[in-house]
Amino acid sequence: MHSLQFTAEPSSNDMVERDFTVRDVPGLPSPASGADRAPLMFDVIIAGCGPTGAMLAAELRLHDVRVLVLEKETEPVSFVRIVGLHIRSIELMAMRGLLERILEHGRQRPAGGFFAAITKPAPEGLDSAHAYLLGIPQPVIVHLLEEHAIELGAQVRRGCAVADFEQDDEGVTVELADGEQLRSRYLVGCDGGRSTVRKLLGVGFPGEPSRTETLMGEMEVGVPQEEIAAKVTEIGETTKRFWLRSFGEGVYQVVVPVAGVSDRAEPPTLEDFKQQLRTIAGTDFGVHSPRWLSRFGDATRLAERYRVGRVLLAGDAAHVHPPTGGQAGLLRSRLKGV
Ligand SMILES: Cc1cc2nc3c(=O)[nH]c(=O)nc-3n(C[C@H](O)[C@H](O)[C@H](O)COP(=O)(O)OP(=O)(O)OC[C@H]3O[C@@H](n4cnc5c(N)ncnc54)[C@H](O)[C@@H]3O)c2cc1C
Repeated sequence: MHSLQFTAEPSSNDMVERDFTVRDVPGLPSPASGADRAPLMFDVIIAGCGPTGAMLAAELRLHDVRVLVLEKETEPVSFVRIVGLHIRSIELMAMRGLLERILEHGRQRPAGGFFAAITKPAPEGLDSAHAYLLGIPQPVIVHLLEEHAIELGAQVRRGCAVADFEQDDEGVTVELADGEQLRSRYLVGCDGGRSTVRKLLGVGFPGEPSRTETLMGEMEVGVPQEEIAAKVTEIGETTKRFWLRSFGEGVYQVVVPVAGVSDRAEPPTLEDFKQQLRTIAGTDFGVHSPRWLSRFGDATRLAERYRVGRVLLAGDAAHVHPPTGGQAGLLRSRLKGV
């Protein structure tokens, strides 16, 4: 019979002194002698400094947990997946005293939207002090959350990819891509939908594969705003995955569906965008000078387990769903802590 037990947690700031005991946990190697192991350097190591990892680090610091975030990228990613925060996300940001600095960088919009790709109007009389949507690009929100975590005492190391780990009865030895080893009591995989931590754990990610694909990118256009607005309104009546949204100074976020599902590891080309725009809108709007080009699918997947021994999964590493199915990326897990 497997059991996981935590003994009493003394209220000490020095988490290393805490008396956690893990016994006979599925997936956990049998305890070996601790004599030859490196000392525990952190209470929690987090793999990935996206919205989930950064927010989790800040939350753990509020409880004096010694936390290290390892992020493989040297800078926050430049592409903008998160385009906005929804009401509950905004409320949670306000509860953590973060809203003021976020509002400075965001643009408020009415709280309308869509659910299951069906347009719904902005509801009236919502019981919320923040009954609006907040347009704010992903790199900005990640930067602000990371800054917040660091202010609270989290360590963030960028350019460090988690490549492997091994867990035992006392902790987890995490190995970086360059071979460096670090040790902590727990490891949390916040490393996105293609999570290395989840794969190394051998935890399945069953669900529905992508059946549709959408191109998404940021680029300049060669036609007047009015022409774009008219087409977007006309096509938006029947196609939810199509828009050109101005980011100012002639730069637009362009989203356009493609037929079929391709090899998603391959980034699309500008020519792919032009071709699809012509197919859907009858014009490619003279798009040029792309900043970044990407694609997303509509897979829905849920990790078979969120925890194996001392290793946990959170955020997109634990579950993904299409953004058109109800937007709440930050809300649904990152801030609520799953
Ligand atoms: C098209 C689209 C639009 C969306 N729009 C919204 C929106 O408007 N609002 C919203 O709230 N949500 C939105 N979402 C959802 C949102 O983007 C995700 O839910 C959110 O990014 C998940 O955050 P995360 O931190 O769990 O994962 P990610 O954002 O994927 O971050 C994972 C991090 O881990 C790092 N990493 C990966 N592997 C390793 C490794 N081995 N070692 C160390 N680091 C590693 C990555 O570099 C990355 O920084 C959208 C999603 C899509 C696809």
